[in-house]
Order: sequence, then structure tokens, then C-alpha cells
Amino acid sequence: MSNSWQSKVRSDFPILSTKVYNRPLVYFDNAATTQKPKQVIQAITDYYEKENCNIHRGVHYLSVKATEAYEDTRSVIRDFIHARHSHEIIFTRGTTESINLVADSFGKKFLSEGDEVIISVMEHHSNFVPWQQMCLERKATLRFIPLLEDGSLDIPGFCELITEKTRLVALTHISNVLGTINPVKEIIAVAHQHGIPVLIDGAQAVAHSAVDVQELDADFYCFSGHKMYAPMGIGVLYGKEHWLEELPPYQMGGEMIRDVYFTHTTFNELPFKFEAGTPNVEGAMGLHAAIRYLREIGMDRIEACEQELLDYATRHLLGIGGLKIFGTAPHKASLISFLLDTIHPYDAGMIIDKMGVAVRTGHHCAMPLMEYLKIPGTIRASFAFYNTKEEVDRLVEAVEKAKEMLL
Ligand code: PLP
Repeated sequence: MSNSWQSKVRSDFPILSTKVYNRPLVYFDNAATTQKPKQVIQAITDYYEKENCNIHRGVHYLSVKATEAYEDTRSVIRDFIHARHSHEIIFTRGTTESINLVADSFGKKFLSEGDEVIISVMEHHSNFVPWQQMCLERKATLRFIPLLEDGSLDIPGFCELITEKTRLVALTHISNVLGTINPVKEIIAVAHQHGIPVLIDGAQAVAHSAVDVQELDADFYCFSGHKMYAPMGIGVLYGKEHWLEELPPYQMGGEMIRDVYFTHTTFNELPFKFEAGTPNVEGAMGLHAAIRYLREIGMDRIEACEQELLDYATRHLLGIGGLKIFGTAPHKASLISFLLDTIHPYDAGMIIDKMGVAVRTGHHCAMPLMEYLKIPGTIRASFAFYNTKEEVDRLVEAVEKAKEMLL
């Protein structure tokens, strides 16, 4: 990546010029949330300065304009993930709400006693707890795809889990702890041979490489705006039309109804059936701007840039004696989870932070995975295209310092 391109990109993100503890901030917590470019921040300001209004229910100028902008975002998202129809795009608060929506609606309609749902041991709590709780409620059984040594999914192990009782597979596209990029297309194909639908948690995927839900043949695909340079509080559930038609509504209230009588209610058509209440219009405006921004850079360029950083950081971190990386699968996204000898991740994280480097420490909302790996947590550095090799050098220096002080 050229220096001039990188400085131009970095100048789009005001927060990247912040100083912490008197040192330039190095932000390596991108898997938790990405920073926002000024184009996104400006889009939100513009919305409030020029177009703010509640949508869908008004005939006046502002309401029509805000509605058009909101619906326009829906079709931009459709295009971004290559969905067939705009009404297959449901706005939610984020990945967590998208998965809860499916777990609740699908669970109530299609899960009964003795049925089985398959997830993997590497799932984020967002794609774990909703299924666990729904299975408990319906007296169904949750099954777990095991992992290989390098943090890849055990595919033969997955095939063995499929039975005539399996009702759904829910799987992360990319692990937020191990970085593993799962072969979701192949897994979906296997599940479909048995007539089983598949939900993909795309929270860690959409910002890092191009996603084509039709090519994957995913039945449901979920993601969050804030992990792809857009604001918090907006996200997406993609669902194939026939599934969304079949599922009952998730929340009740305004907008999701067609007619309400004293005795009963009829529901709105897609996508509104799943969008009860006033939506996050400013979030949609920000998400639209973020997608425009990502497209201007190009998903291929983003992927190449992040892979270069991943290779560089992996090589340099492995040069530190006693450092162990968790997740060494051949196809990995741009994040590294590691431990330093016997040092507790929180202790190391505190020192790394004092050196101006933001990394995340702990279980990363994947407690079952920590139990599986028999570790208390990890230190995780996650990279975005705006990060540099010089910043990786700062991380290596900080990790060396933590080792020197704590061992
Ligand atoms: N799934 C994965 C793989 C994640 O990494 C995260 C967040 O870290 C989530 C789901 C939940 O995303 P959100 O908190 O935006 O709903």
C-alpha cells in the first residue's frame, strides 16, 4: 500500500490523530468497533440539519424525503451484499438483534421437543445464547461443531452432527477470536443437501471482503453497521424471501401492522413486518455513507491491505519469545489473539494500553470457546485498512515491554 494513499485514508478518520497518554493512538480494536470516517459523520449531521423526520407515515415534504433516503439505503445494502430483493433486507439494531429475531421467530414456529440446532464452539455469545435459550424453551438440543488444532472447523465432525432432527445451522462467517474464515459456502451446501437452512453471523466479515449472499446461498445473513465504519445501533438481517414470509413477526407495534382491530391484527408486508416502531433513520444514513466509502476504496483493496498487515504482524509478534497465537488457520481475517507466557491477558493489556496501543483483552464474548481452549482469555489485536506497519511495530514494542515488566 502506498504511503500517500494511506495518509489520505487516515486523514478521513479524525479520531486517528488523537493522542492517548501523550502518544499517538494506535487503534487495534477494530473487531469490537471500527472508527468512523468524516464522510459518515457528515452524513449524520446532514440528515439532522436537512432531512430529519419520522418516516413512512407522512405526506409532507420532509417525511417523504427521509423515507426515500431510508429506503434508498435498503437498496444500497441489497446491492452491497448481492441480495435478490430489497425487501429481504431488514433493518435491526445490529447482529445481536438480527440473530435474536431469527432465533425467536424460527424457534417458535419450527422448533419442537427433540429437534436439534447446530452451532460451533467458536460462536460469539450473540450466536450462542439465543439458540441455547430457544432450545431450552422448546426442549430441543444444541449441538456444537468441534475445532481442529489450528482453529478451523472440523468439517467431518460437522457432517456427523447432522441428523433427521436437525432444523437449523447457525455459524459465524469469521471468528472474532481466532480470525478463522469459515468455509460457509461449503457448509451451506452440505446443510442444504439435507434440507436444513443456515444462518450466517457476518459481523466480522462484511467490512473485510466482498459478501454475496446469493452465491453463498445463505438463508439468513446478519451484520452490524458499527463494525463496518457506520454508526452504532443499526444493523441488518438478510433473509431469503420465502423464509421471511414464513416467519412470524418478532416485535409488535407501529409500522409492522396492516390493520388493527379490537380483536386481532393483520401484519404488514416485507420488510416492514419485521420493523416495529420508529427506526434508526440517522443510522441508516450513516450506513449508506459507510458503504459508499467502502466501495470507493474497493473491497479487494481492503482485503489485500489487511492481509498484508496480518502477515507482517504475525511474523513480528511470533518473534517475541513465549508468545502463543490462538488461531492459525490457513484462511484468516486480520486479527490476532495471543497470550504471553503465563501472563494474565488483563495485566498485559493494561501495560499495552499505557503505551498508547488499544487492544482488547478477555473472553471476547466467547466464554464457551475459552473453556474449550482451556484459557482465561486472550489479548486481541484486530486491524483495519487504515492501520500501518509502523503501528504494528508499536504493538510489538508494547508487548515486549509488558513481557519485560511482568515476567
Ligand atoms: N458476532 C460476532 C462474530 C461478533 O464479533 C460480534 C461483536 O463483536 C457480534 C456477533 C455482536 O455484534 P453486535 O454487538 O454489534 O450486535
